[in-house]
Amino acid sequence: MVRVRFAPSPTGHLHIGGARTALFNYLFARHNNGKFILRIEDTDRTRSTDEYIEAIIEGMKWLGLEWDEGPFRQTDRFDVYKDYVDKLLKQGKAYYCYCTPEELEQRRQEALGQGKSPKYDGRCRNIVQEFEGSKVRNAAVRFRMPQEGQTIVDDLIRGKVIFENDLLDDLIILRSDGTPTYNFTVVVDDVDMDITHVIRGDDHLNNTPKQMHIYKALGHETPLFAHLPMILGADKTRLSKRHGATSVMAYKEMGYLPDALVNYLVRLGWSCGDQEVFTREELIKYFSFENVGKAAAVFNPEKLLWLNSQYIIKSNPEELGELVMLFLENAGIIQKGQDIDRKWLSRAIETLQERAKTLVELANSLRYYIAEDVQYDAKAKAKFLNEKSKDLLAELKENLISLTDFSTAELEKVFKSIIEKYNVKLGALAQPVRVAMTGGTESPGIFEVLEIVGKEKTIKRLEKAIATIATVQP
Ligand code: GLU
Repeated sequence: MVRVRFAPSPTGHLHIGGARTALFNYLFARHNNGKFILRIEDTDRTRSTDEYIEAIIEGMKWLGLEWDEGPFRQTDRFDVYKDYVDKLLKQGKAYYCYCTPEELEQRRQEALGQGKSPKYDGRCRNIVQEFEGSKVRNAAVRFRMPQEGQTIVDDLIRGKVIFENDLLDDLIILRSDGTPTYNFTVVVDDVDMDITHVIRGDDHLNNTPKQMHIYKALGHETPLFAHLPMILGADKTRLSKRHGATSVMAYKEMGYLPDALVNYLVRLGWSCGDQEVFTREELIKYFSFENVGKAAAVFNPEKLLWLNSQYIIKSNPEELGELVMLFLENAGIIQKGQDIDRKWLSRAIETLQERAKTLVELANSLRYYIAEDVQYDAKAKAKFLNEKSKDLLAELKENLISLTDFSTAELEKVFKSIIEKYNVKLGALAQPVRVAMTGGTESPGIFEVLEIVGKEKTIKRLEKAIATIATVQP
């Protein structure tokens, strides 16, 4: 039975890298009918906050990465870690260390000065541990690492990675203030939670040999490891805020669809032939580590935008309608709490799906369908609202007043009769009308636009355009 976990430290929002790790864990669990566990690694109490825990959970929910167990919090499990520390102390696999931070720092500097490894010099390694409990000094607890030989991490993605044991530090597993440390709590939890595969960023690869020795000391087999390649920005440096938004929820605010982001994230490392667009079911079906590359992945915002446009095209307009409401509110196109006829909204959205790459763009394009009035783009106005179009617009307005069936088919007939009468091309009429209706020169088909805007508003907008021409060029 596959059991995997996502183990974020709540010291920030869910970011692109964390979300990719969560996703690979999720997909691996679902592919194997296993369990996906969420574990909050909040032992660093100075940097962890409840707000960040909430934010991480919100991000995972938005991406649809449901977990099966948890969220567990490491700060709820201090007793468990303490028990394991005691066990290791009793067995001599860990020892008390009485060195103070100042002493450690001084000796570290000395070692560096002599060109030696700055690792812990082992001063307390062999002292008789008779001071236990007697608080001469506050003691930390260190794990006794092997000093010879090699440790081989047989990684599912990287293959065999060899570490020399004499470089491994006797790391502190319990600080002198009684709080356990990362490398220890991770192993205890992975043991207690029966984790079979540890899937995480390769920034943790150096921790893995140390953790493998802790597994062994606890009498436990190591799980399998899969260290995911790093994510870089376009300039090939580690992805950071300099490269644009890195927080998952920022993408929500910018009008990305969660499935598009998931689809994008999975391709940061994983591939499946030339296919780019995957349903969730396909991802679950095809996911495996065989197709995860070793090379670092490069974050490409344009590709993410392209994928988002693909997801907008294939979304159902009713669902987009639900999602776009908030964006309409934020853009001030509707009032807070105001509702719109959803059937009408769906039709309007259908005409825009091919054009809007984000929900923000979709909301902005819906502006001319929804608003009472439109603002003219200056260039469009100068080019199309002038003497040449004045009579055409006036003629159209007169014709539309008497039109009872305001449908695309009927509107098309009206347009045809006018361009025949004036002997002009369709564009000579359609472009000025487009400016009158939308303020600009690009929109979906003009008959659809008129039909959706409706008779009353259409006539008002034509009247305004005609009046504008009269004042600009008397
Ligand atoms: N808490 C660690 C982090 O956020 C992850 C530890 C792990 O996955 O083993 O980087």
